[in-house]
Amino acid sequence: MATTMYSTMYVDDIREIKEENPFESMMSRFDRAAQLLDLDPDLYAVLRVPNRELKVYIPTKMDSGRIQVFEGFRVQHNFARGPAKGGIRYAPDVNIDEVRALAAWMTWKCAVVNVPFGGAKGGIICDPQQMSVGELERMTRRYAAELLDFIGPEKDVPAPDMNTNEQTMAWIMDTYSMHARHTVTAVVTGKPIDLGGSSGRREATGRGILIVVNEAIKRFKMTPAETRVVVQGSGNVGGIGARLLHESGYKVVAISDIHGGIYNPGGINIPNALEYLRTTRSFEGYEGVEFVSNEELLELECDVLVPAATENQINSQNADRIKCKVLAEGANGPTTAAADEILHRNGVFVVPDILANAGGVTVSYFEWVQDRMGYFWREDVVNERLQDKMVASFNDLCRYADAHSVDTRTAAYMLAIDRVAYDTRMRGIYA
Ligand code: NAD
Repeated sequence: MATTMYSTMYVDDIREIKEENPFESMMSRFDRAAQLLDLDPDLYAVLRVPNRELKVYIPTKMDSGRIQVFEGFRVQHNFARGPAKGGIRYAPDVNIDEVRALAAWMTWKCAVVNVPFGGAKGGIICDPQQMSVGELERMTRRYAAELLDFIGPEKDVPAPDMNTNEQTMAWIMDTYSMHARHTVTAVVTGKPIDLGGSSGRREATGRGILIVVNEAIKRFKMTPAETRVVVQGSGNVGGIGARLLHESGYKVVAISDIHGGIYNPGGINIPNALEYLRTTRSFEGYEGVEFVSNEELLELECDVLVPAATENQINSQNADRIKCKVLAEGANGPTTAAADEILHRNGVFVVPDILANAGGVTVSYFEWVQDRMGYFWREDVVNERLQDKMVASFNDLCRYADAHSVDTRTAAYMLAIDRVAYDTRMRGIYA
């Protein structure tokens, strides 16, 4: 009886989706999955909100000698399956709504690949391009000091995100260790290899893309050599993903950066094109290709499309013109909730972001395990374990989608929520 009453409430509670808002987008998918699972209303009430949201003010001595106070956040969405896990981003426009959505996304992502973490995310409102290395270090250390009671290998394990990197993680690890009075490498992941980082971590997200694409094309009985791939973005995910796909015999026919892309239906020599981009900082002038805008690139004829740049690229305006068979989402949130329906109707097989780009968090989990053992694995061992985990998760997802007759996006959320809900139910709600 109570379930029926609350089930009706989900429907009333599904707001009109503001297409470009990541929090709205995440919540609409969460609500749909919760409704299909007929999730117990008490669990629904607990899982739809974060466990904790911290707001900190970060006094930082600037090079001028003056103090500037920055505003920062850390949202810990869920701890049911283990410590919270998620990146820290530095950006002028980062806000609590965005951090809250990203923290929840991390919970679902960790659950889909079945690693024993909950979700978290952090951010500082700042413009890192306008700050010196010294200013960034002092701001990072003070932020870490403000979070001392809330992070730790058993509590919450930060990682790099937009505008943060291995150096940022090394500063956080050092600050935390100074207060603990001993070196605690497992407090962050994405560290330099010499300081307890994992082999294979830098390539892990791109490698995860390769693994899910390998599995997805089997569904279409295609081989790499006959598979045309378009990649949007040429950074850590897009660039490395494209290179690994190329090395595995795929025909990568287009790739872009923020300024636009290059296209050759016969295939592009990806290592060569990426080297050209690295040295000239643009694809402009690259020979033997046609130049296309990022919008045109998404609509090219291809078998596999990998949006690996930024969010909201595939939306209600262009979803009908997407021609791929497989959409492997390298970026977080590249497809809006409104576009999902159109892609599903057009028969596009979507490997949702919370699975497709989970290679990074999976190897972060391996890094945390290695730090805690104090024993480090060879890169081929890391890659093999990543392969096992991603393939198992891909198969879990497809089975779940078939069993519930839902699209893969909905299945990914249902699978994740089901796992977190089961663990929460077994632990009991301490209320
Ligand atoms: P990156 O900064 O290394 O590369 C981003 C690429 O996208 C660059 O080539 C850039 O020129 C291009 N780009 C940026 N804005 C664009 C725009 N508006 N239109 C077209 N191209 C644009 O970043 P990354 O680490 O490769 O991350 C890409 C996406 O993948 C993000 O959504 C990120 O959250 C997500 N992601 C990254 C990781 C990781 O391990 N790096 C893991 C999971 C998800």
